[in-house]
Amino acid sequence: MSELKTYALSDLDNWTFEGTALAVLGHPIKHSVSPQMHNAALAEMAKRDPRFATWKYFRFDIAPEDLPVALGKLHARNFHGINLTVPHKVIAFDFISDVVLSAQPIGAINTLMRVKDSWRGYNTDGYGLSNAIKEELLLVLSENIDVLLLGAGGAARGAAVECLQSGVRSLYIANRTASTRDALIAQIKPLAHKIPVHGLDPAKLPNDLPENLLVINATSAGLKPTDSLPIDLTALPRPRAAFDMIYNPPETPLLTQARALGIPAANGLGMLVHQGARALEIWSEAAVPVDVMRTAVHSAMKAPA
Ligand code: NDP
Repeated sequence: MSELKTYALSDLDNWTFEGTALAVLGHPIKHSVSPQMHNAALAEMAKRDPRFATWKYFRFDIAPEDLPVALGKLHARNFHGINLTVPHKVIAFDFISDVVLSAQPIGAINTLMRVKDSWRGYNTDGYGLSNAIKEELLLVLSENIDVLLLGAGGAARGAAVECLQSGVRSLYIANRTASTRDALIAQIKPLAHKIPVHGLDPAKLPNDLPENLLVINATSAGLKPTDSLPIDLTALPRPRAAFDMIYNPPETPLLTQARALGIPAANGLGMLVHQGARALEIWSEAAVPVDVMRTAVHSAMKAPA
């Protein structure tokens, strides 16, 4: 079986792979580079521990309405671990009953570990975000950091929970649709304790924002080359750094503007790598070669689709 093949639900009816299988499920999924990233890590891990020589990671295109059936079949076929991407993270949270405590406030899961009769849900996106920010922007989410988070969808919710659980000094959330922003703030408020959480309109910023904000883009603005900026960085008082969760394209309007202003900037590739590394640690209970995963992602993204 080629690792670049995209499998369908019907392929599980004649599944013949006898090793330890892992998979990512999404819709669409054919552009996912997770198979290349995980299979490169597994090949490296097999050099130290032969048990990993029989592990392999696949990708499946699964429509949202087929997710419960697909997870049942994957369990019956002895799959060991699953990653979930758009649009499955929230859907799975609603019917997987065994979700680890740290993922419960997020309301979304991106990693499943096989347990006896079902799956246990985790969310490794926040871990991926904080590790990428540490590695690429040399910043630790902590009481010294004020964060301006852009967006109020699933990725923003995970980022907001990570910021609050890491104890940032303050959290500002800006989203073009006020109602989704306010709903997000209401959901995360119980986690804030003494951390101030403010909602903003990205088009009407107040002039008393703090200096040195870490700007995190969790909107989809920047996925298309014609997209406009999710926020104008010149409207902020000297931001400290900009992190864009988007990694494809690798350069977004926000990152271009940040670099032009001399603001440290990083795209979401490191987040992708670290969330994947944490998932593989959960499944393998072994040390994972993060650098090998990063190199594999870089070359997969350069390869023709
Ligand atoms: P959702 O669809 O749940 O949310 C999208 C968000 O983007 C909403 O807040 C929406 O605002 C906002 N938005 C969409 N288009 C625009 C626009 N043109 N201008 C301003 N705001 C806009 O998506 P997700 O939360 O799942 O994903 C968001 C981004 O994060 C995606 O680009 C995704 O690729 C990236 N991501 C990266 C990861 C990584 O590992 N690096 C992991 C997960 C996500 P509104 O409420 O007004 O509609």
